[in-house]
Amino acid sequence: IITPVPVPTAFGGADKCMLMTFHDLTPLRRVEEMRADFVANASHELRTPLAALSGFIDTLQGPAKDDPKARERFLGIMHIQATRMARLIDDLLSLSRVELSAHVQPHTMVDVTAIIRQVTDGLESLARERQVVIETSLPEAPVTIAGDREELLRVFENLIENALKYGASGGRVIVSLEQAVSADNAPEIRVKVRDFGPGIAPEHLPRLTERFYRVDVGDSRAQGGTGLGLSLVKHILNRHRGRLLIESVPRNGAAFTACFPQSKPGRGT
Ligand code: ADP
Repeated sequence: IITPVPVPTAFGGADKCMLMTFHDLTPLRRVEEMRADFVANASHELRTPLAALSGFIDTLQGPAKDDPKARERFLGIMHIQATRMARLIDDLLSLSRVELSAHVQPHTMVDVTAIIRQVTDGLESLARERQVVIETSLPEAPVTIAGDREELLRVFENLIENALKYGASGGRVIVSLEQAVSADNAPEIRVKVRDFGPGIAPEHLPRLTERFYRVDVGDSRAQGGTGLGLSLVKHILNRHRGRLLIESVPRNGAAFTACFPQSKPGRGT
C-alpha cells in the first residue's frame, strides 16, 4: 500500500515533493481473518444445538404430540442441548472478559493449594462417575501467588475436568504442586495435572489452546466440551504472566502444567 503524505515545510513543502510510505498490512489482515474465523466458528457451534432444538420442537408439535414416552425422551435431549448452548455462551463471555483485561495483572495474594482443594472437592462426583481416583500431592502450608481467585478456579477446573473426561476411565489423575525456578532464574509455582489416558498425538499439541480446536470433535461434544477450555486457560495464564506446558506420551496419558511466577506477599508480581 502506498500512501502519499504531505511533506513538512522544512523538507521543501507539500507542493514541492511527496513522500511515499509503505505499510505492511499482513499482521492486520491476519487479525481480521482470525476474527472472521472466530465468528464463523462460534456461529457454527451455536447453530448445532439450536438446529437440534428446533428439530425436536417440530417433532413434539407433530409426530410425537400424543406419545408421552417420546416426549419425555426428546425433552431430555433438548435439556442437554440447551445446557450445551448455555455453556458455550458462558465460555465465550469468560474468554472475552479475560481478553479485555489481558493487560491488567491481578495483584491480590491467593492461596493456590486452597483453590486446588476446592476444585478437586467439587469434581469428586464426576471422578466417582468415571471411576477415577484424584490423587493430590500438595504442600500443607499455603502457597500464595498474585492472582484472580475465580480465574484460577477456572484454570484448575478445566485441566482436572479434561483429565477426568479424556483420561481413561477407571484410572487415576494426579494433581501436584511444586515450587521451582524458571529458565530465567525466577521462583515459580507449577501445578501439574497428570492422567493415564490415551494421551494426545504430537501433531495436535501445538494447536490445543486454539479456540474450538479439538482432537476429536465427536468425543468432545459427547463429553459436553466446547473446545474453548484450554484457550481460556492459556489466556488466564497469560494475564497472570504464567504459561502452560503440555506433555503427552500417546497411550500413556497427558500432563498439563500451569506455571505461575511466585511473588512475596504484599509485593505483587
Ligand atoms: P473441550 O471443551 O473440547 O474439552 P478443551 O479446549 O478443554 O476443549 O480441550 C481441547 C481438546 O484437547 C479436547 O477436545 C480433547 O480432544 C483434547 N484434550 C484436552 N485434555 C486432554 C487430556 N487430558 N487427554 C487427552 N486429550 C485431551
